[in-house]
Amino acid sequence: MTEAKRYVLLDRDGTIIKDKHYLSDPEGVEFEEGAVEGLKKLQGLGFGLVVVTNQSGVGRGYFSLEEAEAVNERMRRMLEAEGVHLAGIYTCPHAPEEGCECRKPRPGLVYQAARELRFDPARMIVVGDKPADVALARACGARGVLVLTGKGREANVDAGTEIVPDIGALAERLAAEAAR
Ligand SMILES: [Mg+2]
Ligand SMILES: [Zn+2]
Repeated sequence: MTEAKRYVLLDRDGTIIKDKHYLSDPEGVEFEEGAVEGLKKLQGLGFGLVVVTNQSGVGRGYFSLEEAEAVNERMRRMLEAEGVHLAGIYTCPHAPEEGCECRKPRPGLVYQAARELRFDPARMIVVGDKPADVALARACGARGVLVLTGKGREANVDAGTEIVPDIGALAERLAAEAAR
């Protein structure tokens, strides 16, 4: 029996693309350091790639869900042009005070992705630049990794949190582990 595909679940802003503070213009999509090469490498290692992103700018009335999704779509197409395929992009459009089940660190979107793509959340690796990303991993019993791109350097995380400089460095670490 072949082993089920494992997934790396990535944050968008500050992790894959530069955090432009409530980005709503697709033209503003700009990749973070190490992101494209890192995603290529993760894909080459056999990982599926999924994005889960909090876009509270929608719930706060700063921009529409369609605008948020246009940014997602431009990122997706720019990555496809580099040969990187995203299995899905899941967006929470709610403001924090709405108390939804899908805003990270709540795991609603992870469970939706896991159902649709048929993976075990406990076996995924969550990567992001904020404590909420690491907390999401914990909520799912998964491995969480903080990147130091975006807000990562100012993130207040528990001692013992796994940290890498960027997605490229994460890919190298996972490649080294796979080679052991
Ligand atoms: Mg982020
Ligand atoms: Zn939500």
